[in-house]
Formats: sequence, C-alpha cells, structure tokens
Amino acid sequence: MKVPFLNLKAQYDVIAEEVQRSIAEVLSKCAFSGGPYVEAFEEEFAVFCGSKFAAGVGSGTDALWLALLGLGVQPGDEVITVPNSFIATAEAISLCGARPVFVDVKEDSFTMDPELLPQAITKRTKVIIPVHLYGQTADMDPILSIAERHGIAVLEDACQAHGAEYKGRRAGGLGHAACFSFYPGKNLGAYGEAGCVVTKDEELANKIKMLRDHGQSRKYYHDVIGINGRMDGIQGAVLSVKLKYLDSWNKQRRANAMLYREKLAGVAGLKVPKEMEYARHVYHVFAVRSQRREMMRSSLQQSGIDCGVHYPVPIHLQEAYASREEQAGKFPVAELCARELLSLPMFPELTGKEVDYICQEVERHSNVRDKA
Ligand SMILES: *Cc1c(COP(=O)(O)O)cnc(C)c1O
Repeated sequence: MKVPFLNLKAQYDVIAEEVQRSIAEVLSKCAFSGGPYVEAFEEEFAVFCGSKFAAGVGSGTDALWLALLGLGVQPGDEVITVPNSFIATAEAISLCGARPVFVDVKEDSFTMDPELLPQAITKRTKVIIPVHLYGQTADMDPILSIAERHGIAVLEDACQAHGAEYKGRRAGGLGHAACFSFYPGKNLGAYGEAGCVVTKDEELANKIKMLRDHGQSRKYYHDVIGINGRMDGIQGAVLSVKLKYLDSWNKQRRANAMLYREKLAGVAGLKVPKEMEYARHVYHVFAVRSQRREMMRSSLQQSGIDCGVHYPVPIHLQEAYASREEQAGKFPVAELCARELLSLPMFPELTGKEVDYICQEVERHSNVRDKA
C-alpha cells in the first residue's frame, strides 16, 4: 500500500465545483488584489477565531513580519520565541532588524516553557511569540500573565493551529494579535500563497492594513514605509469556501489521531503526542518520538509510507543564524525534538485502513512490543 504524507487532491475533488464557481466569480469581477472577496473572508475568519479584525496578507511570513512592524518592533529590539519552529517565526523578527531570543519548549507539549520565559526578558523585549506547534496551542495563561507584568505584547504564531482551542477559546483570539498561514498544506490552505493577522485591536488592524499596502492611507499617499503584502482576491474567495469545512476537517484529523493513539499505544520505544488538558489539538502534524527516527523513517519509506520531519535542525543551529552566540546544547528539548520526532501521514481524508497499515508497519519496524 502507498500512503502519501499529504493528499490535497482528495480534498479538492470534494469541493472542486464550489471552488471553481467562486474563482470564476472573482475573475468575472476582476477583483484580483485585495477587494471584496478578501474583505468577506477577513470578516468570516475574525469571527471564526473569536476575535474582531483580520487583515489578509500574502503569506504567514508576511503576517508575522507585518504584525511585528505594527506592534512597533524596530532594530535593536528583542523578540522572544522558541527554537523549534519553522524558520519564518525567527525570520520575521530578523526582517524587522530585531533580535530573536529563544526560550526552550516543554517536553510534553513541544511549546514554549513558561517557566523559562522570565529569565529571557530584558529591557529590550518588545514582543513574545509563542508558537502553537503542530496544531496545539501553547500554554497561554502563564505566558500572558508574565507578558502583562512586563508590559510586553504577545503575538500568537497560529500558522499551524486554525481552529485549535485553549481552554475552550480558539487560537487567534488569545494574544494581542495572531498570525495565520494559508499555505496549501495547512489545516486551512489556500490555492496559492496567503496569510492573515487577527486582532481585537482596531488601531493595530488598521496599521497592518496600511503596512501591507505600501504604507498608504489613500492611493499614492504613503504615511509609513510598508511592503506589498496584500492577499489575492482568488485566495480570499477560495478560503471563504474552505472555511465552512474547517471544523469538520479538523474533526476528521482528531479522529485519525485517536486511531493512531489507540494502535500505537505500547509500541516499544515510541511516544505518541500528548493532548494537554488545556488544549483541543487540531493535528496539523502528528509527530511521534523515537530514538531510532532515521531508521524508522527509511523503513516506512520502503513500505510505501511518506513521513516528514518537522524540523530536522532547530532555528538556533541553522546556518542562517550560525553567526549568533547560540550553541548546540543550549536548548536541549528543542534539540531532542529535532533528533527524535517523526511526522506520520496526517490529513482529514486519511482512511482507517491507511492508519491501520501505517501502525502495523510502525510496529513491525520497531520489532518488539512493550510487554509492560
Ligand atoms: C507555515 C508557517 C509559517 C509561515 O507561513 P508561510 O505562509 O509559509 O509564509 C510560520 N510559522 C509557522 C509555525 C508555520 O508553520
């Protein structure tokens, strides 16, 4: 049996007609850049997140960059985040001329360890970016209270957490602002590149809308220096169609995660991801831990199963950040994640049969079952 890591075609086949109709509408109205379809999606998505305003932008990376600029981050500032994320989280900080300061993550959740946060805060800290990694929110309450004590803004990197919940509230409505990516492979994916910033702060939302459009307040009057970070009309229309399905897709991901969990319980040397008591996980990624990750990955590949590694090198050890003072060993949990985590196929349309087959192969390749 062959199992892909991701199957975007299976999802497209179900909604093809609806999507094609909505794209045709955008084309006939020539609403290509920004415009009514982006605005409609912004309103729907802000409501979905339990927030107030949304600014559609070109990508998740733009969302992070523009949100940081909107929050006033400047050269010389420090922004705290975690080292086990996609590079974009740190990149956005660097693009503002600020310095990323890393805080290690907890071993049970892979998200920011609030206990390590206070010691990373300095007079220069402007923003804290917890990352809702793999579809599970960070432990926001302690992070928010520490931030509040120091008068620092909290920006959620919710690029992997569309529809995830923290104590019953959705990601995107937890911090001062939140950033989402609609890269095609995300839980809510566009048919091209897109992202957005969500916030309850109207002034911040307006500032970001200005920054995404060359800092103009009206056409050709530029109040500040911005970028071209607008969302395409076609993406807005596609996302409006897909948003209606997001809850049911997330449910299917959770059902697949339950199946995995059941069938992988007791496999020797393997740890399944934990759903924290505060969280409703939406399983953008289902990452298991094994000390024999590389062996497992190549064995599964031979069995026709595509896996991923998110991420093989933590940000502080990336070549792009090699000039920094950070060294191997400084963030042990993030480094452990990079060594041991293996992402199994996970998408809503994954069938029970496929999960069965994957689990059977995982077990076969770990050869001994835990007798305990
Ligand atoms: C995908 C992702 C981003 C970047 O989003 P793009 O749309 O690819 O620019 C940022 N942070 C995290 C955690 C991501 O997973």
